[in-house]
Amino acid sequence: MNELLETLKSKLATISDLQSALWILSWDQQTYMPAGGIETRAEQMATLSHLAHELSTAPDLGELLEKLNGQLDPETDDGALVRIAYRDYQNDTKLPGDLVARATRAAIMADPAWAKARETNDWSLFAPHLDGLIEIARETASYIDASAHPFDALLSVGEPGMTKAQLEAMYAALKEETVPMIKAISEQHDPQRSAPLFGNFPVDRQKTFGWMVAQQFGFDTQRGRQDLSVHPFCTMFSSDDVRQTTRFEPNWLSPALFGTLHETGHGLYNQGLAKRFNRTPLGHGCSMGIHESQSRLWENLVGRSRAFWEHYYGQLQETFPEQLGGVDLDAFYRAINTVEPSLIRVEADEVTYNLHTLLRFELELDLLEDKLAVHDLPAAWNAKMEAYLGITPPNDSEGVLQDVHWSGGMFAYFPTYTIGNVLSVQFYDAAVQAHPAIPDEIGRGEFGTLLSWLQDNVYQYGRKYDPNDLVERATGRPMDTAPYLKYLKTKFSELYEL
Ligand code: ZN
Repeated sequence: MNELLETLKSKLATISDLQSALWILSWDQQTYMPAGGIETRAEQMATLSHLAHELSTAPDLGELLEKLNGQLDPETDDGALVRIAYRDYQNDTKLPGDLVARATRAAIMADPAWAKARETNDWSLFAPHLDGLIEIARETASYIDASAHPFDALLSVGEPGMTKAQLEAMYAALKEETVPMIKAISEQHDPQRSAPLFGNFPVDRQKTFGWMVAQQFGFDTQRGRQDLSVHPFCTMFSSDDVRQTTRFEPNWLSPALFGTLHETGHGLYNQGLAKRFNRTPLGHGCSMGIHESQSRLWENLVGRSRAFWEHYYGQLQETFPEQLGGVDLDAFYRAINTVEPSLIRVEADEVTYNLHTLLRFELELDLLEDKLAVHDLPAAWNAKMEAYLGITPPNDSEGVLQDVHWSGGMFAYFPTYTIGNVLSVQFYDAAVQAHPAIPDEIGRGEFGTLLSWLQDNVYQYGRKYDPNDLVERATGRPMDTAPYLKYLKTKFSELYEL
């Protein structure tokens, strides 16, 4: 048994090394690679991903996993390793090679078409690509689980244990509470509310401030770094080498400030993964939704809280005296928590955000079920924007064409952002229940207790437990929208005197 296990670990480590090398190439492509490198980089990455796929679907790996599966105590690290590696193997081998190749090619071809369509505001350039990608998504779903709803099949890969039915219940609860809230808030609309965040904010000072907070949160600069990229992200090559990126707008404080806190949340999770899981399939975040819960927790529960700014606002004012010298803490706190229906998901506030993902979730279901034709998607998008947020996009670039996900063939993805929002509060509440001093500590710029709780209850486990299991272990109950809704109601009733 031990010998089989050692052979397995060695094979998995090789696969993990290839994947990490692939991610380094991808990180480099998005940060430092000169534009001219793209063609050879595409080949280099294709070679590595082909090799990784070959190894991760090799019959001898399958035989090894068959022998080991169910033989070990699932509570042990080795038991979890076999369980997760076996599931990955089954998922990887379910898809025929030619389908994987077709999917990759379709996404590569769709990307420039989507970019052009967005740039020229011409849906017809992207529509035929999306048609093909949906067909491939349906086919993929049928290979993963022919008996399941295609959305459930696709969801099971990135969000194991979560179902379309659970998402529908989650969204129904959110919609019921937030739609009237947004309506009441919009009656108090004040276009000047967010004004303090716009002006002249020199980039070097933005960078210094954000990076200082990231380190005080607990980001370890000996095991990670921050660089610039067009779209901020966080990736890792092991828990000892974590890369996050950010971007700056010289005339708008929010994107870099909250973007940095957000990516730092992902970064803390990645650095907090148990060292012994490096070079194994367990050494990654539990699911996309759980990962997002950590970026949201640090960005919103900490970074948009009044306590946090009671400590940091003086320093921010000293950093930008011309812009913020005359803005008091209350006005700043109100500005960073402005609620306003807007067109673009990534810029949405905490209250309206989930309606953006709900709209995408519902449209995807209709597309996958063939109830909605791609040709009619822009009109359906606009109708839902009007129904949920009371605004209609002036064009498709600021509407149905805004996100990159569908052009990359990423379906069943958007709800994971909302899972992240819901769980961010559930985890935070559990941490505060265990350590009631946490909010006061945040007010003093101390984050050690919160970070340790998250480390002990979430980060270290990586993929050892499935998402539902991890949530129950850490918070004592399954995912629940109630704490999140209570948080939104309390915070924004006070901010808007509802
Ligand atoms: Zn994120």
